[in-house]
Amino acid sequence: MLRIDISAYQEDLAIIIRPRCPKCKKEFMLNLKNYYPGKQHACWACGTVTQFDTALAEKTQKQVKDLETLVHEIFERFQPE
Ligand SMILES: [Zn+2]
Repeated sequence: MLRIDISAYQEDLAIIIRPRCPKCKKEFMLNLKNYYPGKQHACWACGTVTQFDTALAEKTQKQVKDLETLVHEIFERFQPE
């Protein structure tokens, strides 16, 4: 099951997903903002390192930024006159 948590305080957006380690299958939390090109994730349980896909990470960063801009605009609509 795909579980995603999205929260926003002002324009600071957090999109948390819970993938599983490819080796030990333990679930971990990943903020998409931390899904950067050239970065990797080390499993807290078994230490298996998963390299982030560069093209996918670039796409993720762009989309998160776009969504953050959108959320910021929505917040602005609720500003007092
Ligand atoms: Zn693991």
